[in-house]
Amino acid sequence: MSVERLKIPEPISGGIILSYRCNSRCKHCMYACSPRWKGDWMSEEDAGRIIEILARKLSKAPPGLIGVNYGVHLTGGEPFLNFELLLKATKMAEEAGLPFTFVETNCFWCRDDRTTREMFSELKAAGLDGVLISVNPFLVEYVPFERIKRAVRIAEEVFGGNVMVYQRLFYELFDRIGLKGTLSFEEYLRRIGRSSLAYMELLPMGRAVYKLAHLFKGYPASKFFGLSCRRELIRDWHIHIDNYCNFIPGYCGGISLGDARELDKLCSEGIDLEEMPILKHLLTDLEGLYRLAADLGYEEREEGYISKCHLCLDIRRYLVRRGSFPELKPIEFYEHLDD
Ligand code: SF4
Ligand code: SF4
Repeated sequence: MSVERLKIPEPISGGIILSYRCNSRCKHCMYACSPRWKGDWMSEEDAGRIIEILARKLSKAPPGLIGVNYGVHLTGGEPFLNFELLLKATKMAEEAGLPFTFVETNCFWCRDDRTTREMFSELKAAGLDGVLISVNPFLVEYVPFERIKRAVRIAEEVFGGNVMVYQRLFYELFDRIGLKGTLSFEEYLRRIGRSSLAYMELLPMGRAVYKLAHLFKGYPASKFFGLSCRRELIRDWHIHIDNYCNFIPGYCGGISLGDARELDKLCSEGIDLEEMPILKHLLTDLEGLYRLAADLGYEEREEGYISKCHLCLDIRRYLVRRGSFPELKPIEFYEHLDD
């Protein structure tokens, strides 16, 4: 395939980020969500258009795929901050015939049984198939564990087997130690120990590379030279579309392959890489990206980089302030990494 024009495969699963706004600002958040985002939500018109496109594309996906990385999930940020939109998007997904739709939540809103049951039941009646409940050491810094427990109990009543607790291991751990309320990450490390993080499916990208870098070994930039992200950038599963309709490859927050409302065109005609130099380098060799940034004054971090995503993000964060790069979107993502 020519590197000058990139063809994007038709997605078979994905997430719709209704907003980057979240009540939490987890240290590991791949999309740098937080309460400090100005709180733009996807318009109903865009939601309808995106859902209609995904319904068409996903009808070609292999049947029976249900899980964290399959179907379509409505997410954020925290989607329950705008229950009205979440409910409308669910109804639209049902009407469009999306094969499996679930919502991802951090459960901050599960303050009492009655409201929790009512909201889950309303979504179920509107056509929602399941729920993914997040549990991890970073989230319980913000959300009291009792609310997460309540959400799991009531979601299982309402949705039966279609409740994914991610990661179950941390749910059981917090349950076992009788956690009440929230737990700071420092306290978590003191009580549970750092070795437990080995069990966490922690992707060293997004906010994590700044907030958690001290937990990992840093390497010089040259360690990642010769690597490309072709596999991550052009995969057909678990893509994301944000509230600005950016088509985000995989988990690569802050990178847009184009306007998802034009997904048919993106898939059939591809995108012109001449207009997207950062993307072009990422598809070939990270060294090229490093050289491009160095020519514009970027200096290697003395502390090194914990992963190739760290190097990639640190460079993008530098470049976004020094030029106009259409593939670096949304710009606000880069402003909220330190939140
Ligand atoms: S990881 Fe989830 S709960 Fe935490 S800040 Fe990001 S979107 Fe919010
Ligand atoms: S290095 Fe950049 S493009 Fe590659 S997977 Fe990580 S964030 Fe995505």
